[in-house]
Amino acid sequence: SYVDALTSLANRRRFDDLFAEEWRRSLRAGSPLSLILLDIDSFKGYNDAYGHLVGDDCLKSVALCLADGLVRSGDAIARYGGEEFAVIMPAEGTEAHVTLLVAEHLRRRVERLDVPSIASKVGRVLTVSCGVATTIPGVDDDPAELFRRADEALYRAKRLKLDELITRSYTIDEAPQAFADLAAGRNARGDRQLAEQPERRRTHARGPP
Ligand code: GH3
Ligand code: MG
Ligand code: MG
Repeated sequence: SYVDALTSLANRRRFDDLFAEEWRRSLRAGSPLSLILLDIDSFKGYNDAYGHLVGDDCLKSVALCLADGLVRSGDAIARYGGEEFAVIMPAEGTEAHVTLLVAEHLRRRVERLDVPSIASKVGRVLTVSCGVATTIPGVDDDPAELFRRADEALYRAKRLKLDELITRSYTIDEAPQAFADLAAGRNARGDRQLAEQPERRRTHARGPP
């Protein structure tokens, strides 16, 4: 089967096929291909606190929320693993910073679901972290490498979120400037398109520097 039974999203098998297909298409067209990986934060703790059935409902809500948040017809989302989702964004206009905006849009949608979570380490509601990677496939490139880069970016986002206590967590591979701009509320053209500043909060009072 190609469908995930719990969420009705595409399953991992479908994702793998679609990713291979889109990779070949982008290679032929010479166009960019982007991946967004999203992972629910502290979901083990959520299950522990509210029970597995509530956890299942929560996964369904998040899945629907993410799927509804995609607007372009070419973009596809899958449930990649337990509490992990993957978005494939083919075609022009998916340069790194555009993909980053989509990732942030999806992350905000989940935050706005406003699902209370006492398991959260960064706030009071359920959150996701995102990792983004973009490439223009070349004949000698390995598609697994793009996935690995997105996964590494996701790992960094998780760490950043905990280290810096930034609630708006996302990272993009090999594009620290894009991340810095986004964190400062600018898009690539320098517009203040993302109005809100990253929220930083401190759980401990800190002494003077
Ligand atoms: P992190 O913030 O680092 O991502 O921590 P985490 O707890 O989200 O990640 P971890 O990999 O430790 O745990 C993932 C949890 O997701 C464990 C498992 O109980 C839960 N999970 C995975 N699949 C399902 C599912 O289908 N239903 C429910 N209810 N829980 C699931
Ligand atoms: Mg996970
Ligand atoms: Mg998780």
